[in-house]
Amino acid sequence: MNHDREETKRLERVSPEVFATFLRAKKVAQCCMSCGGSRLVVPETDDAAYSASLAGSSSFAEKKYVIWYKISESKPASPDNCEYRVICSECGFTSYYWASLVVLWLEADLFPVEKTGGKK
Ligand SMILES: [Zn+2]
Repeated sequence: MNHDREETKRLERVSPEVFATFLRAKKVAQCCMSCGGSRLVVPETDDAAYSASLAGSSSFAEKKYVIWYKISESKPASPDNCEYRVICSECGFTSYYWASLVVLWLEADLFPVEKTGGKK
């Protein structure tokens, strides 16, 4: 398993439920910072993306995950180089959350990762 794929797997662990739990744990306001509306949407994998991820890896993505957006297009996807979006469905205002913090929080607090040796 190459390093880039490992990093992608870490991102794929962030399901919509995990991200929602993270936002609650961090006491993020559950309303739009622009209009105050309460209908916020987090883009998640649709069925096509879900199938593609299944095709690309034999066993990993068992459920939907939050779609990440690369910060630097020229670098591979990794928690350090990605962010998640929350979009207000009333005014369109979009806010971003750095994926690194979400993934590290998940790995430390929610579902601790079993380290498999010290191999890099
Ligand atoms: Zn809004």
